Amino acid sequence: MIEGIYANIIIDISHEKVDRLFQYRIPKPLLGKIIVGMCVIVPFGKGNRERSGYVIEITDTAEYAPEKIKEMIGISDRGILAESSQIRLAAWIREHYGSTMIMALKTVLPARQRTNAVRKRRIVLTVSREQAGEFLKEFQRKHQKARYRLLERIYRDGEISYECGVGELSVAPSVIRALEEKEIVTVVSETEYRNPVRCRGAVRAPVMLSQEQQGIVTEVLADYKGGRPGTYLVHGITGSGKTEVYMELIAGIVGLGRQAIVLIPEIALTYQTVNRFTSRFGDRVSVLHSRLSAGEKYDQCERAKKGEIDIMIGPRSALFTPFQKLGLIIIDEEHETSYKSEAMPKYHARETAQELASYYGASVVLGSATPSLESYYASRHGRIRRFELTRRLTGGSLPQVYVEDLRRELQEGNRSMFSRRLMEKLQQRLEAGEQTMLFLNRRGYAGFVSCRSCGHVMKCPHCDVSLSEHRNGKLMCHYCGYEQPAVKSCPACGSKYILGFRAGTEQIEESLHRLFPDARVLRMDGDTTRKKDSFDEILAAFAGLEADILVGTQMIVKGHDFPHVTLVGILAADLSLHGSDYRSGERTFQLLTQAAGRAGRGERPGEVVIQTYQPEHHSIRYAAKQDYRGFYEEEMGYRELMGYPPVGHMMAVLVIAGEEETGKKVAGRLAKAAGRERAEHLATGADNAGHQVQIIGPAAAAIGRIGGKYRTVFYGKSSSMEALIQVRDRLEAVPVTEQDVTVQFDFDPMNSY
Ligand code: ADP
Ligand code: ZN
Ligand code: ZN
Repeated sequence: MIEGIYANIIIDISHEKVDRLFQYRIPKPLLGKIIVGMCVIVPFGKGNRERSGYVIEITDTAEYAPEKIKEMIGISDRGILAESSQIRLAAWIREHYGSTMIMALKTVLPARQRTNAVRKRRIVLTVSREQAGEFLKEFQRKHQKARYRLLERIYRDGEISYECGVGELSVAPSVIRALEEKEIVTVVSETEYRNPVRCRGAVRAPVMLSQEQQGIVTEVLADYKGGRPGTYLVHGITGSGKTEVYMELIAGIVGLGRQAIVLIPEIALTYQTVNRFTSRFGDRVSVLHSRLSAGEKYDQCERAKKGEIDIMIGPRSALFTPFQKLGLIIIDEEHETSYKSEAMPKYHARETAQELASYYGASVVLGSATPSLESYYASRHGRIRRFELTRRLTGGSLPQVYVEDLRRELQEGNRSMFSRRLMEKLQQRLEAGEQTMLFLNRRGYAGFVSCRSCGHVMKCPHCDVSLSEHRNGKLMCHYCGYEQPAVKSCPACGSKYILGFRAGTEQIEESLHRLFPDARVLRMDGDTTRKKDSFDEILAAFAGLEADILVGTQMIVKGHDFPHVTLVGILAADLSLHGSDYRSGERTFQLLTQAAGRAGRGERPGEVVIQTYQPEHHSIRYAAKQDYRGFYEEEMGYRELMGYPPVGHMMAVLVIAGEEETGKKVAGRLAKAAGRERAEHLATGADNAGHQVQIIGPAAAAIGRIGGKYRTVFYGKSSSMEALIQVRDRLEAVPVTEQDVTVQFDFDPMNSY
C-alpha cells in the first residue's frame, strides 16, 4: 500500500462518464488511515459544498500547486459500501493488467449509466370506506363531477393507477392534488424495476445429492462457516451433477444471508440454464448479459444493491454486481476463453474473482469437465482444492467415439465433407427418429476464396484477413464489415479457377438438404443468432423436436441438454488445431470433449464421429478417450519445455498505430526498453529480483491491420509474473510522443496476436 499525503477522489460514480479525478490533501490525523475505495467527505466546487466521493489513489505527487489543494473533511460514516470493494478491485485490475484507472473503473462500474427508471404511480384511499362514502355524497351534492368520478372508481376498486385517473377517467392532475390535500387519497409512487427473468413454473424441490456431490457441498460450506473461505475446482464430466452442487452451495450461502454470483459463458446463458435457477430460487435470481438494454442492466444492479435479489447469473461482467455481502462466486466452464476480456483492461474473470472474494471473505468454486491447465496445475500444486465428480447421473453412458481420417476418405475417392461412417450413422438416426448435432468450428461461408492456378487469396484491403464468401454472392470481412462483389476471374493472373473454400455451416446445411431431402435441419451460427431472442428460439425449436439435425458453430456445444441427441459429428476437428498460438491443442481438446459430451445425455447411448486430417494428434486421441489426465500430462510436457503458461508467464505488448513505420519504431523502442539490451530477435533482461524476462519480437501481428490501424506485437516470457509486471511498469514510463499510437498489455494471452 502506498503511503501518501494526497488522495485522488472520484466524486460521482453514478455519472455516465466516470471522467475525472479530484485531488485532496489528507488531514494529518487521517494520514495512513485512508485506503483505496473508502468513501470520504470533501468540499467541492466554488461554494465548497460537502460531497461524498471515493478514494481512487493515494499519492505523494501533487497534481497542481500544493497550496491550492483543498483538504478532505473526513471519512464518511456510510460504512463499507459495495462500491468500495469495486473501486478497490478496479485499482487491483489496473495494477495487474495495465490500463488507466478510468478504464478500470469503467469496467467495474459498467451498468451505472442511469437511465430513467420506470415509475409506477397508484392512487389509494387514505380514509376509511365509510368516510369515502360520505365524501362521495358531498361531491355529488356539490356537482363536483371530476372528484366524484375519481373517488367513485377508487371506492369501487380499492385503488387505481395514476394513468387510469388522468387517462380513462380524464381527471385533471389538479383535482387529484386537491383530494390529496384534503387527505382523502394519496398518490403512491414506486420505482418499478425491469425484470428480465420471467419466473416460469413452480418452484422445484431440490434433488437428493449423491454422496460425491454432498461431500463437496459439506466441505465447502464448512470451510466457509469456519472462516476459511477458499478456491475450489470441481472437475466433473458433463452430466455429473455440477450444477446441482452449485445450487446446493448457493442455498447454503443464501441461508447465511449472503449473496452469490454465478458466471457462465455468455454463449451458454440460455433459458434452460436460467430456468433451472429460477425454478429453485424463484424471483431472488436475476441475470445480466449483453442482450439486456442499458436500463435493464442498471435496474439489475440496483436490485442487487438493495438486497432484492440474492443470485446474479451472467457472463464475465456479472462479476461486478454490487452485492453488499457477497459469499460465493461460481465460475462454470471455467476454462472458457471468454472469461478473459478482449478489451482493455484485459482482465481474467477467474483471477479477478479470487481477488474480489478476498475482500468479502467469499469462496470461489470453479467447475469444468475440461479444466484450464492453469486451474488443474494449481490444484496439483495444492494452491486450490480439487474435487472430482466421476459418475454421470443422467443414467446415460459415455458415448462411443469414432475418429475418421479424412486423408483416407479422399484417397478412397470420397470428396464430400462427410465421411462414410458419418453418413451411415446420420441415416440410421433419421430412420430411428433420433436427433443429430453437427459441429463446425467456423461460421457462415467462412471459406476464403483462392485461385487454384496461382494461389492468390482475396483479402480485405483494410484488415489483411481473407474475405468470406456469402450466399448472396458478396465477399465480406468479418472484422470491419467491408464487402465487395464476388470476382469471376483472378485479379492476379486472370484465371477463371478462383473458388471458395466451401466449409461453412451454410454449406453443410445445403449438402444435408441434397443428401437427406426429408431431414429437417436447423442452423445456428453468428449469422442466424444476431436477433435478440433467436438464439433461444433455435434451441427451443430443437429441444421441442422440431428438427432432426442441428448444424452449428462452437456455440452449439456449450452446456445444452438435449436428451434426444444420440449422434454428434465434428466435421473438421483440425480447424481449431492449427491456430497460431500455444493454446490451440488445449482449445481443441476442450471443444472435442464438450462436443462429445452432447451425445447420449438421455436414455439411449450416444455416438460421436470426429473427422480429422490428423488423427494422431494428442488432443484428438485423448478427447476421443475422454481422458483429461492423459491430455494434461502430455500437454504439460510441452508447456514445461517451452516455458509457456501455466508453468511460466507471458505478456503481449501490442502497439496499434495509424502509420506502419511509427508502429514498428515504437514497438522497437519499447522492446529495447523491456529487454534493456537487444540482440537481433531475442533479448533478455531481469527484474529487481533477478528473474529473467525473455523478449520475443517485435513482429507484425498475425492480423497486421484491423480497421485501418497497423498492429505490431512483441512478447515477454518469464517464470515470474511479478517480473513481467515490473517490465510493464518500466514500459509505461517510456514516453510515447508519436501521433495516433496506443499500447496495450495482455498477460497470459488467450490468443496470439
Ligand atoms: P453438470 O452441470 O455437471 O452438467 P447437472 O447438474 O446438469 O450436471 O446434472 C445432470 C443431470 O442430472 C440433470 O438433469 C440433473 O437434474 C441430474 N442430477 C444431478 N444430480 C442429481 C442427483 N443427485 N439425483 C438425481 N438427478 C441428479
Ligand atoms: Zn490466380
Ligand atoms: Zn476488414
